[in-house]
Amino acid sequence: MGCLRIIRRMPHDAHDDHPHSLLPPDPALRVRALETILTGKGLIDPAALDAIIDTYQHRIGPQNGARVVARAWADPAFRARLLADADPVIAEMGLYGRQGEHIVAVENTDTVHNIVVCTLCSCYPWPLLGIPPGWYKSDAYRARVVREPRKVLADFGLTLPQDMAVRVWDSTAEVRYLVIPMRPAGTEGWDEEALMRCVTRDSMIGTGVAARPEAGS
Ligand code: FE
Repeated sequence: MGCLRIIRRMPHDAHDDHPHSLLPPDPALRVRALETILTGKGLIDPAALDAIIDTYQHRIGPQNGARVVARAWADPAFRARLLADADPVIAEMGLYGRQGEHIVAVENTDTVHNIVVCTLCSCYPWPLLGIPPGWYKSDAYRARVVREPRKVLADFGLTLPQDMAVRVWDSTAEVRYLVIPMRPAGTEGWDEEALMRCVTRDSMIGTGVAARPEAGS
């Protein structure tokens, strides 16, 4: 019983005024403990860890995918190569990386809208889109998008014409998909940087569409 009392007084409760309550919450504490042990044993290099964290916080994100899309809009030869075999094209742009070893680009058209899911877990093209959003990993999205994609899209505020086909792509550990959304009207002659601002993360998953930013934004 004494043991049980101690467990109950463990410092995870924010209302506990025991001095241990200053410790970080449980998962963070475990991570820190692991990091300390692994560093002490010389198995990891803290500087390398910092570099990885910096990469995911600052360098990897939807802006990478947006650059690919913007270039595909602006350069028909690039788009053709991307659609035929995305991997070498992505690698040329320096965007090849973990969780994105094999990318397939699929293109939205006047008649086809593509949407991406991972029904099994949460496979996602990290080097192009960053860390997946919470809803992408949810049971509800993963189950419903296959059965009723139009209803799921409506929940995202996107209503497609009835005669537009919807294609659902199921990601796996081997294959990750990038949707090339349709280029918004009124962007003729825009350079790559300007075009990138039309490309949202959701438009590259297929739960949204690309949109021309309002003037001045
Ligand atoms: Fe998965």
